[in-house]
Amino acid sequence: MSQDVVSFSVEDGIAVVTICNPPVNVISAAVRAGLSEALTKIGSLDGVRAVVLTAEGSTFCSGADIGEFSGPPREAEYRDLFRRLEQFPRPLLAALYGTVLGGGLELSLACHYRIAAAGSRLGLPELTLGIIPGAGGTQRMPRLIGLEQTLELLFSGRPVDAARALELGFVDQVSEGPLREAALAYARAVVAAGKGPRRTCDRAVDPATATPQIIERLKEKAKRQFPHRVAPFSAIEAVSAALTEPFEQGLRTEEQIANRSKATVEAKAQIHVFFAERETRKIPGLAPGAPRAIRRAGIVGAGTMGGGIAMSFANAGVPVTLLDASEDALERGRKSIADLYASMLKRGRISERQRDERLALISDARDYEALRDADVLVEAVFEQMQLKREIFARLDSIAKAGAILATNTSTLDINEIAAATGRPQDVIGLHFFSPAHVMPLLEVVRAEATSLQTIGAAMDLAKRLRKTPVLAKVCYGFIGNRMMEGYAREAQRMVLEGATPRQVDSALENFGMAMGILAVFDMAGIDVGVNVHKSNADKYPPDPTYYQADLALHAAGRLGQKSGMGYYKYLPGDRTRHDDPEALAILRGHAAALGVPQRRHGEEEMLERCLFPLMNEGLRILEEGVALRAGDIDVVWTSGYGFPRYRGGPMFYADTIGLKTLRDGMLKYRQQFGPLHWEPAPLLSRLVEEGRTLADWSREHRA
Ligand code: NAD
Repeated sequence: MSQDVVSFSVEDGIAVVTICNPPVNVISAAVRAGLSEALTKIGSLDGVRAVVLTAEGSTFCSGADIGEFSGPPREAEYRDLFRRLEQFPRPLLAALYGTVLGGGLELSLACHYRIAAAGSRLGLPELTLGIIPGAGGTQRMPRLIGLEQTLELLFSGRPVDAARALELGFVDQVSEGPLREAALAYARAVVAAGKGPRRTCDRAVDPATATPQIIERLKEKAKRQFPHRVAPFSAIEAVSAALTEPFEQGLRTEEQIANRSKATVEAKAQIHVFFAERETRKIPGLAPGAPRAIRRAGIVGAGTMGGGIAMSFANAGVPVTLLDASEDALERGRKSIADLYASMLKRGRISERQRDERLALISDARDYEALRDADVLVEAVFEQMQLKREIFARLDSIAKAGAILATNTSTLDINEIAAATGRPQDVIGLHFFSPAHVMPLLEVVRAEATSLQTIGAAMDLAKRLRKTPVLAKVCYGFIGNRMMEGYAREAQRMVLEGATPRQVDSALENFGMAMGILAVFDMAGIDVGVNVHKSNADKYPPDPTYYQADLALHAAGRLGQKSGMGYYKYLPGDRTRHDDPEALAILRGHAAALGVPQRRHGEEEMLERCLFPLMNEGLRILEEGVALRAGDIDVVWTSGYGFPRYRGGPMFYADTIGLKTLRDGMLKYRQQFGPLHWEPAPLLSRLVEEGRTLADWSREHRA
């Protein structure tokens, strides 16, 4: 087995060791065994004067085997193998290409020389999983590039390209041509120059890169950049050991800190989200097959969402036609797409060529004939059932057989929309989030008649568009907005009870939400929410204080950022929130009219009142089968609603605080506010009675 994943050949006195562990050459146990075996064999061969270590396939080793994280610690195994590489008596050169991350990069640091193909990307993303490099990275990297740059690399989590790696000093040469030849030439040059192994472990960290001022600055940066997290401080501690401890002792310190990091909630939470994101595409009953070809797309409705969705297709290289009823709307759509690409160009996100190519992929039309060839059609017109049904009947009459017919509706019943066609099996919800060309989340909503093939095609499409799809069943609000209902309801209710918008938003932001929900309403437009509530009044509970803060502000002409005032006040051209006594007066006045008693709220209450209903609804959604897995719900909230990844999403967080705490919290507020909004979900009560966790439940109900 080990022979399959690592092989070597000797050419002209240079041994070339090749790792082949598709798809991305993770350093699995077999790769480690294979490398070890290859070293032994090469060590016994006379006439080998240098070794090149490289890989086959799309990339050099992309990292350690993350699947091993849940098992026993492997640091010692890596340490021993990498020590063998480093101590190898003949020069050892790593030839890097593709995406060289984490353990893959650490492997190369144990080699004596490094050459990288131009365009390779190299990085240490461990902190994004709440852990630190545990295979020598915290000890070797600072010996090559200094303490400060090592920590900057770790804090950013993003890979740098080969040119930057060369500049920093952890790559010795960048190859523009074929890598293998360049690596062999480099190895021969090393031999010819009589250079021997150049061991990273023998170097010392440049003390100028590790002054007390630098360390202080990095600690301050970590505090700002990573609130509530310990991993960045663990990284500082481990990297600092490279300065103060001999190499071998530093490795042992790294191991201890790495194991401590892996046991933290933040690491478990982030690793949970990492795996959950990879699981969302697994649909029971759906056999893996070749993805359905998407050669052309069509969008109906060139407004905010339609334009963003068209850009998502163009960004993925798919030609797309944007249709709207009016020439004016098309003109506005075209302009806003051009403006968005111009701003991406200005910020260096795309090149001029990419902008031109993408714009050229988007055409527009007013005639449905132009959509005949589309393999997928996405409707994004006004949120009106009759209108959507008419459009679907129209699409049914022109779309080619087997095309995906998708709606971007947020609130309407997709079964009813599908019934307007003669092919409900092809109709599905594709709920994009705004701005659609940026947000990674895509809720894929299956209606009663949607076929498995259509679901599979939608999942493949999401991959093509580089979105994270999560499958939901039709219900009001699907997964994300349905859970947001109680979360936002309580935020609005608390500002009627006397809390200020700033207090509520700060409580949520201190917890780690990307933005407080009231500031979100200001950004999205208070009128948008009010209109949704007005047209769905029949779906809401009989509560006279329900979503009344929005209503009061709306009645006073405060529509949020676009009108310069909402829950907060905004200066022209500036999104900074300012507290506004006028908003408070409106809220107080409305509370008095509704008879809502005034009082003070502690931060804990503000958090509980928002988060308990959110998690409770998640348990209902799970039990009803609206979401397939607890992990899917966590993906929706971490990738679409700004829930902190380091808390793992709402379902993971429910287990973190304990389901009993959640159930007792619901009961506490039920006593205070009555049962209307505070009934514990049946699944929650049951799991608490059985003394089980959501993780237990998920294991038994693995989809
Ligand atoms: P919008 O008002 O910005 O755009 C709607 C577009 O549809 C307009 O350009 C309009 O001219 C066009 N249109 C209207 N009738 C038409 C017809 N008969 N034929 C062709 N085009 C027609 O609306 P939006 O915010 O882009 O929302 C579109 C859909 O997406 C709605 O169903 C909405 O619920 C949903 N949605 C919106 C958001 C959001 O954040 N805005 C998020 C997710 C889903």
